[in-house]
Amino acid sequence: MINKDLVIIGGGPAGLCAAKMAAEAGQSCLLIDRNRTLGGQLIKQTHMFFGSEKQFAKTRGIDIANKLVEDVRKHPDLIEIWDDATVVGLYQDKVITVLKNELYIKVQSKAVIISTGASEKVLAFENNDLPGIYGAGAVQTLMNVYGVKPGSRIVMVGSGNIGLIVSYQLMQAGVRVLSIIEASPKIGGYKVHASKIRRLGIDIVTSCTIKKAIGTEAVEKIVTVKLDEKWNEVPGSEKEYEVDAVCIAVGLTPLTNLQSMIGSEMKYISELGGLVPVIYPNHETSIENIFSCGDASGIEEASSAIVEGYITGLLASKKLGNVHPRYDELMDEYNTQLNNLRNGPFGDKILNGLKKQGA
Ligand SMILES: Cc1cc2nc3c(=O)[nH]c(=O)nc-3n(C[C@H](O)[C@H](O)[C@H](O)COP(=O)(O)OP(=O)(O)OC[C@H]3O[C@@H](n4cnc5c(N)ncnc54)[C@H](O)[C@@H]3O)c2cc1C
Repeated sequence: MINKDLVIIGGGPAGLCAAKMAAEAGQSCLLIDRNRTLGGQLIKQTHMFFGSEKQFAKTRGIDIANKLVEDVRKHPDLIEIWDDATVVGLYQDKVITVLKNELYIKVQSKAVIISTGASEKVLAFENNDLPGIYGAGAVQTLMNVYGVKPGSRIVMVGSGNIGLIVSYQLMQAGVRVLSIIEASPKIGGYKVHASKIRRLGIDIVTSCTIKKAIGTEAVEKIVTVKLDEKWNEVPGSEKEYEVDAVCIAVGLTPLTNLQSMIGSEMKYISELGGLVPVIYPNHETSIENIFSCGDASGIEEASSAIVEGYITGLLASKKLGNVHPRYDELMDEYNTQLNNLRNGPFGDKILNGLKKQGA
C-alpha cells in the first residue's frame, strides 16, 4: 500500500487547478488521470472559449489545457502525476485502487478530491448501436485530436452549445451537416453559435427527434419525426436523410461512480445534469475529507470547473493543515468569480440546481 496525503482523481481543468492551489499552499498531492494527456475535455476543444477573461475567454480550449498543465508542472516536488492510470475503486476509509500498467495499485490517502468530469447522455431509438452513430465527444476526439473525419454526410441531434460548436467544426473539416434537429421547441445553445451555423446554410429544426436509424453494416439513413407540444410524435411528419454518420449531442451527465461507491449522499437534480453528490459548504461530500468539484458535481462549464478546482484545492489543503498564505483573499476572489460566472445566460438554472444540491 502506498501512502499519500491528498489524491486528486481527474486531471481536467478542475483537478489541475485543485492541484495547483494545493501546491501553492505547500500541500503535496498525487494527481491521477486515465488519459495519457492531461486537460480533460479541453484537449479536444479547438474553439475559442466564451466567458470571463480571468478564465481564459477568447483562448482555445487546447491552449487553456496546455497553460493549466504548465502551471501544475511548475511544482514537480509537490505534485506527482500518474497518467494513463484509472481509479477503479474508492472506499470510505479513503483507500483508492488504481489500474496502471495492468497492475492494481492501492493508495491510502488522507483526503481525496473527485474531479472526474462527465459522460455523454445517450438517446434511445431503433438501431442506435449501428456503426457511424457517435456521441459529440467522440466526434470531437476523432476530428480534433486524431484528425479523422467521422463521415461525409451527417445529421446532428441536439442544438445545445456542444451540438452547435461541433456542427461548425464538422463543416470546417469539410463534412456536410445536413441538419441539426432539436427535440425542444427552442434552440438550446447561445444565439451567437446558432446564427453562425445558420449563416453557413445549416437548417436547425426544432420540435424534432430521431426515430430510427437504418443500415446493415453501418448507418445509411435516418428517419426523423416532428414532436407536438406534449412531445408526442406527429404522424406523417417523418423525414429521411441519407447519412454515413450521426452525432448525438444531447447533454452531459456527471460521472459519479466513485461518489456512489463510497456511499456518499446523492440527489437527482436535472438542472445539474442528473445524479450528483450532495455538497457540504466546504465542498466535501457527505463523507468527511472526500471532496468533489467540476462537472463531477454538476454540469457547468470549464470556466466554473477551473474556479471550483481552485477553491476545492484551497479547502482540502487547509483541512490537511496547509493554509495558503493568501487563503482569505483567494477564497473571496474565487467565490466572487464563481458568482459572476453564474450570472451568465444559464445562471438561473445552475443556481436553482445548486440550491437543491447543498446539504
Ligand atoms: C464540445 C464542448 C464545448 C465546450 N465549450 C466550452 C466553452 O466554450 N466554455 C466553457 O467554459 N466550457 C466549455 N465546455 C465544457 C467544459 O469542457 C467542461 O465543463 C470542463 O472540461 C469540465 O472540467 P472537469 O475538470 O470537471 O472535467 P473534465 O474536463 O471532463 O476532466 C475530467 C478528467 O477526469 C479523468 N477521469 C475520469 N474518470 C477517471 C477515473 N476513474 N480515473 C482517472 N481519471 C479519470 C478524465 O480522463 C478527464 O481527464 C465544453 C464542452 C464540450 C464537450
